[in-house]
Amino acid sequence: MSLRAPATRLLQRSVATSALGNASRSLSTVAARGRDATSSSPSSSAPLRFSRSGPSSAPARAFSTTSPARDFESPFGVNSLAKFTEEEEMLKEAVRKFANDVVKPRVEAMDEAEKMDPEVIKGLFEQGLMAIETDAELGGAGCSFTAAIIVIEELAKVDPSVSVLCDVHNTLVNTVLRKYASKHIQEKYLPKLASDTLGSFCLSEPSSGSDAFAMKTSCKKQADGSWILNGTKMWITNSAEAEFFIVFAQGDPSKGYKGISAFAVEKSMGVEIAKKEKKLGIRASSTCTLNFDEIKVPAENLIGEEGKGYKIAIEILNEGRVGIGAQMLGLAQGAVEKSIRYAAERKQFGKAITQFQGMQFQIAQVLMEIEAARVLVYNAARLKEEGRPFTKEAAFAKLYASQVAQKASGSAIEWAGGQGFTRETGIEKYWRDSKIGAIYEGTSNIMLETIFKLVEREMQLK
Ligand SMILES: Cc1cc2nc3c(=O)[nH]c(=O)nc-3n(C[C@H](O)[C@H](O)[C@H](O)COP(=O)(O)OP(=O)(O)OC[C@H]3O[C@@H](n4cnc5c(N)ncnc54)[C@H](O)[C@@H]3O)c2cc1C
Repeated sequence: MSLRAPATRLLQRSVATSALGNASRSLSTVAARGRDATSSSPSSSAPLRFSRSGPSSAPARAFSTTSPARDFESPFGVNSLAKFTEEEEMLKEAVRKFANDVVKPRVEAMDEAEKMDPEVIKGLFEQGLMAIETDAELGGAGCSFTAAIIVIEELAKVDPSVSVLCDVHNTLVNTVLRKYASKHIQEKYLPKLASDTLGSFCLSEPSSGSDAFAMKTSCKKQADGSWILNGTKMWITNSAEAEFFIVFAQGDPSKGYKGISAFAVEKSMGVEIAKKEKKLGIRASSTCTLNFDEIKVPAENLIGEEGKGYKIAIEILNEGRVGIGAQMLGLAQGAVEKSIRYAAERKQFGKAITQFQGMQFQIAQVLMEIEAARVLVYNAARLKEEGRPFTKEAAFAKLYASQVAQKASGSAIEWAGGQGFTRETGIEKYWRDSKIGAIYEGTSNIMLETIFKLVEREMQLK
């Protein structure tokens, strides 16, 4: 992975912004170190020998929970999924700092107001977190997919609403353009999406959710090659603040899913943002209905080929599902950390409640399940990066991480007793936020169906 020079510039921009300064300085260093890293291969560092432990094995690197993981390079070229590149480690630390310094103080107010603070969106852009995989020439950071997953996880530890805003913008909107749009459309929109324009991904409709390709929104080609869009999209994340939309529409119902095309649509083309949903969780993340009434879209704004919208949506949602897995993973971690810290301070029967075996066993069980979710999420991310099939693993990651998030955040409330049940501690918010993991970007049943279909194919059962 390399962070290129324009990424450094982008990330450095916010140094002047006092609240964001430290995190931004770290990201600039990430960029600089990333460039250095490309010139020295892992094999150029001193070889490390395998050793279980013990003084006699020094200076060989022992497997140890206390040694910094980044020092270790397997002589076989195989590492654990917890092994991140130095740049990824630094990015993680910088995002953690941004989330704690900038997002955390605003979480409760944003949830109560059911509104994203514009300063948070501005901060995400200034930090270079809204174009993580976009090429540096187009204003992005030029980072890996795993880097995007790290960012989504870290943000979710503090606020899953902020995390999904960043997730949808990066893994769905930017990625559709990066992978399928013409060079002209990429050059027109990606720099804006990297600097100040928020994007939405518009697939679902009132009558087509799980059966997404039964959509009714229509696209009609005009004699001059332009398109007219009509219809309604529902449940669209980021849509209250977005200025740019990826829209899927049906051009010929007789062709079924092969009649669907994807378009790059600007709000200024006439998109009407209608009802904003009042939700159980991720309340700061906007979810609205959108109306398209005779919207004229230029021919050049067709993304990919006519009739290939289905393929685009299917492929992109695999990446998106790893992103939701990361959101749920971060959420679970954030909830239990908050609760365990409280429980370690809280005394009953003369000692901290974490000193009771009944509590210790529950905590250990949940932490193990979070770790299992982490392995599934990062395994899917690395498979994607390696260009291997990852549809089943993405479904595993999303399904399991959302189950773990729900259980972990529910347990976190119980571990904090009455305090966990109040809105002041912020623990109950994680549980409310966790419910969405089983619904968007494919419900849990749809994940199970996807997994079984793939297994059926692998085992040649049909
Ligand atoms: C907060 C929020 C944000 C969202 N953001 C976006 C967005 O940005 N863009 C976008 O396009 N969409 C978005 N969505 C839509 C989301 O993807 C859909 O809600 C989801 O796909 C489920 O569709 P549905 O709500 O119509 O439920 P339905 O499809 O009606 O499902 C209801 C229940 O039936 C089950 N079910 C349906 N079909 C089957 C089947 N074949 N087998 C077994 N069980 C089945 C489901 O699992 C579910 O339990 C968002 C939704 C929410 C709530």
